[in-house]
Amino acid sequence: MSTSTESPFQESQERRELRVQVAKLAGKYGREWFTERARAGEKTTDLWLEIGRAGYLGINIPEEYGGGGGGIGDIAAVCEELAAQGCPLLLMVVSPAICGTIISRYGTEVQKQRWLPGIADGTGTMAFAITEPDAGTNSHNITTTARRDGDEWVLTGRKIWISGIDEADNVLVVARTEDARTGKLKPCLFVVPTDADGFEAHAIPMEIVSPEKQFQVFIDDVRLPADALVGDEDGGLVQLFAGLNPERIMAASFSTGLARFALDRAAAYAKERTVFKDPIGAHQAIAHPLAQSHIEIELARLMTQKAAALYDAGDDLGAGEAANMAKYAAAEAACDAADRAVQTHGGNGISQEYGMAGLLVATRAGRIAPVSREMILNFVAMHSLGLPKSY
Ligand SMILES: Cc1cc2nc3c(=O)[nH]c(=O)nc-3n(C[C@H](O)[C@H](O)[C@H](O)COP(=O)(O)OP(=O)(O)OC[C@H]3O[C@@H](n4cnc5c(N)ncnc54)[C@H](O)[C@@H]3O)c2cc1C
Repeated sequence: MSTSTESPFQESQERRELRVQVAKLAGKYGREWFTERARAGEKTTDLWLEIGRAGYLGINIPEEYGGGGGGIGDIAAVCEELAAQGCPLLLMVVSPAICGTIISRYGTEVQKQRWLPGIADGTGTMAFAITEPDAGTNSHNITTTARRDGDEWVLTGRKIWISGIDEADNVLVVARTEDARTGKLKPCLFVVPTDADGFEAHAIPMEIVSPEKQFQVFIDDVRLPADALVGDEDGGLVQLFAGLNPERIMAASFSTGLARFALDRAAAYAKERTVFKDPIGAHQAIAHPLAQSHIEIELARLMTQKAAALYDAGDDLGAGEAANMAKYAAAEAACDAADRAVQTHGGNGISQEYGMAGLLVATRAGRIAPVSREMILNFVAMHSLGLPKSY
């Protein structure tokens, strides 16, 4: 656990310094640059590659594969600081944190050497595809199947809402082996090149102001070599879960970063804007909701750091509960912060110039993905409180 000796509730000096450096780098780009790119249909590749070169993108990847040898706490800090500067990079959740973790843990030596260096420096981004149109939240119902054909695998299925296919060389696809159709989920993970024959992706028009897009994916008899399978064919669930706790921790830090950004802008505006005799921040109706957001954000950050510390210490079970709670708290804090930031800005809150209204949708997505708030409440009701399963 990366905490200081003086207090276990404060991150280490090294982690805090990392945050400062990432914030400095992201600050050179900033929110206006990010939204201009998004509105023009352009990408944020410059920033992506710069954080890759600086070693921040692959900070959680083992050093022998081009990474920084750090933990999820480190990459989550990077993700949060980028978002706090108004440059949230969703693909950080996917490429280094989910795919990087799964391949680092379960890939063969050859697979690690092939994919991890590109994930770490940003030149070989990997998307992640589990969600399917008919299965939705119920991943046990996914039907994307892989069958063996000689030395090869043949993959068929459909995926939806998959982020960043247009920016990725490969996508880690969760499928199931054909003989496992009868009942229990037996997921298997395959690395699929996005330019493979039979692989098609169509962008879904979204209301989120972001250069990162979501896609519907059609996988039609895509032939893959034997070593496209990551990990053990029978080790499915455990391998998948290795990526899901990091996913929740990263999603939480993405939300807390956006929340901090919204709150910073709102507080700055509340200090400046005067319509009666004092700045609007002097009115408690404006000040209190912002103060409330500050408290909620700090609580969510603390839980996120706890989840990361447990995960990095190898306590997968403890990390599971904390990561779910952190993700819930962070998404709630972010939605409220964005809403309060819009209100603080009055009419400017919904102008493109101030860019606050776009945050409503961006933060709102955190209540839905990668796992919905309802499924987290289900998890906590069942696992933390011992209540019966409701579905
Ligand atoms: C911006 C964005 C990016 C995404 N990126 C990716 C990606 O890169 N890769 C990927 O694989 N997926 C991705 N997703 C998909 C995301 O994980 C799913 O949208 C999410 O899991 C919810 O699934 P669904 O949309 O099918 O909703 P549904 O499963 O249809 O659920 C609809 C509603 O019903 C509720 N519900 C369902 N079952 C229950 C229950 N048992 N109890 C209580 N409530 C229930 C849900 O909480 C939700 O509110 C992304 C989604 C978004 C919005």
